[in-house]
Amino acid sequence: MDSMAALKAAVSAFRVRDQAAFTTTARGEELRELREVIDALEVEFSSSARAFQLQGGHLANGCPGVVSWLRQNCKMSGTSAADRVCVGKQLEALPHTAKSLANGRLGFQSAAAICHLYEQAAEQRENLVEEALVVHAEQMGVAEVRDLCRRVRYVVDPEGSQRDEEFNFSRRRLHISALSDGMHVIDAILDPVGGAAVKTALEALATSGTRDGRKHSQRMADALVEMAHHAMDEGKLPTKRGVRAHLNVSTTLEALQGLPGAGASELESMPISQKTLERLCCDCTVSRVMFAESVPIDVGRATRAIHPAARRALRARDKHCRWPGCDRPINWTSPHHIEFWGRGGPTTPPNLLSLCWFHHRLVHEGGWQVVKAGEEYRFIPPQQMSVLKEWRARGPGYSRAA
Ligand SMILES: [Zn+2]
Ligand SMILES: [Zn+2]
Repeated sequence: MDSMAALKAAVSAFRVRDQAAFTTTARGEELRELREVIDALEVEFSSSARAFQLQGGHLANGCPGVVSWLRQNCKMSGTSAADRVCVGKQLEALPHTAKSLANGRLGFQSAAAICHLYEQAAEQRENLVEEALVVHAEQMGVAEVRDLCRRVRYVVDPEGSQRDEEFNFSRRRLHISALSDGMHVIDAILDPVGGAAVKTALEALATSGTRDGRKHSQRMADALVEMAHHAMDEGKLPTKRGVRAHLNVSTTLEALQGLPGAGASELESMPISQKTLERLCCDCTVSRVMFAESVPIDVGRATRAIHPAARRALRARDKHCRWPGCDRPINWTSPHHIEFWGRGGPTTPPNLLSLCWFHHRLVHEGGWQVVKAGEEYRFIPPQQMSVLKEWRARGPGYSRAA
């Protein structure tokens, strides 16, 4: 029997072993030993892949590189294949790593991290002390070994590390695409420093504020949207042909007044609900355009929905988002009209309330109602609102706090 047939027979025999009487201790021991066998086979695979490369076996099959040959023929990802080829190449000159791997003191993934360090360090590899690296790595988990190798690389090969950083930076990209239903997909890869900056800023927004039922991933998405709104609200983004970055909403007088049968308003050519229209209009600049038979015949001057003096008074009064328990500072809030201005609500402080992006959305789209009770504001959840409406419909005796 040749050696491959013998290995396959041994694996087949192992797969039908009697597991009925396995205790957790026995199973744990088996897992440890099994990993050692798999790691030993990984080393064999890596050495064999390297020998195949040196023989030019991949070229004979029309593949320009051994990695692409492994991807096609061994059902591996490019990263896994390159990892094995690197280990196969470097292990030839790393006796301490090879010995520790063979004894089972070093796992394959940790050995691979050391091999990658030697490959990356190239001419500076003379400055590495393999034996000391292996002694430390034997006491560590895989993530710690990778971290150790990264740090050692910065010490022995600072120029190479800088080159790698520049290469990583060149790989950055971000695509935002709109789906047919108007949802947006973001696909991005950022360099280590840029990624850390974005993550830190988003987490600062995602982890502060009220405790509510949102998942962390939803809070991170909200944080990104909130950051975009904040940047536009501050008006410090670069202008395009003299116009500040803003969202464009097209609507009609009927829709603003909430009249039944009014056509859908549009945000960047996508229809939006009446509730979203009202939220976006709480703090906006309005331009009137008159049409005659679909042709614009008059464009009025753009005016802010809220006068700067009213805005200043509101900032002095509110200081932060007025939602109970929310600590978003005032410059991260928008003025909400308790009675919508399109239906006659005044744009003066008694009818205005500072709310952060999420709580402003909760009031409009989420159906919460804000009720002024003396100097205080009460936030009534949607379920309670429907009960109140029912009481009101029942007739006399009910009066809404105002
Ligand atoms: Zn509002
Ligand atoms: Zn808030």
